[in-house]
Amino acid sequence: MLAYTYIERGRFELRNKPKPVLQSPHDAIVRITLGSICTSDLHIKHGSVPRAVPGITVGHEMVGIVEEVGKAVSSVGVGDRVAVNVETFCGQCFFCRRGYVNNCSDPDGGWALGCRIDGGQAEFVRVPYADQGLTCIPDAVSDEQALFVGDILATGFWAARISEISKEDTVLIIGAGPTGICTLLCVMLKSPKRIIVCEKSPERIRFVREHYPDVLLTRPEECMEFVLCHSDHGGADRVLEVAGADDTFSLAWKCARPNAIVTVVALYDRPQVLPLPEMYGKNLVFKTGGVDGCDCAEILQLIEQGKIDTTPLITHSFPLNRIDEAYRLFERRQDGVIKVAIRNEF
Ligand SMILES: [Zn+2]
Ligand SMILES: [Zn+2]
Repeated sequence: MLAYTYIERGRFELRNKPKPVLQSPHDAIVRITLGSICTSDLHIKHGSVPRAVPGITVGHEMVGIVEEVGKAVSSVGVGDRVAVNVETFCGQCFFCRRGYVNNCSDPDGGWALGCRIDGGQAEFVRVPYADQGLTCIPDAVSDEQALFVGDILATGFWAARISEISKEDTVLIIGAGPTGICTLLCVMLKSPKRIIVCEKSPERIRFVREHYPDVLLTRPEECMEFVLCHSDHGGADRVLEVAGADDTFSLAWKCARPNAIVTVVALYDRPQVLPLPEMYGKNLVFKTGGVDGCDCAEILQLIEQGKIDTTPLITHSFPLNRIDEAYRLFERRQDGVIKVAIRNEF
């Protein structure tokens, strides 16, 4: 089968590999129908994910059809259409039982697919702990609608959940990339009084303006002043930092009102400074990143009910055999790309 493979730093290639087989009774094999490219794939390509193993098939955003299941798998069966979760988790350990599945203490737990083990930019994928890693897609939900459920939408959903948003809140979201927009959609479900999105890219600003006209938009340079003018208590009640740029962490806490919650979803390239003397008396609560991707069934229900729609994010689509082109476009952010879908045509 075709599999997009991490060869070495700076190089991915479409290779022919054997079809995966079950390795444990908890595994399932999924025939992938639709996949996508994530910024984390680019991080692997550029060598900034040290635990990524050369030779593995990349890709961790995908949906497909269950082809085969191990004896211990009970929640999905052959022929089921499923969303694949980016995280592998056992469901049994101390952390899993409390919903902190990102911290699953199983040796295979965490972000394994498309990083430490073969992922889904391929025709088939082996999913460990399939009872946790796969979620059936309701009939009324298309592959396109379900494509981001296991990764960036799970992230946005989790970020909105842990931010404890109420109807009186002014919520500031920093960054309107794909994960920022998924976060925005999930924050919208909480119906806060105001949502302000801070973004610098003109194309992303245009995208938000076009699709979510009720959202207030600002740029990083003017963000602090804008938030002061458009909030009730001297800053945002909730700040969700999804940008991960050099100065966006400091922007996040500076825009927060005293006693606000600042949720850091972003993954930074460099250490960030927490200047405690400067923040003294502001009494902020920080919550930090690493999605607990255990709400996929609930997210799929919300999609089925028409409450979340991420399909506008899919701006481009390529068949698997042209995935090199898809990467080039995504990496260079050409042609107004937000997300690329990778189709498997059987
Ligand atoms: Zn991802
Ligand atoms: Zn666990």
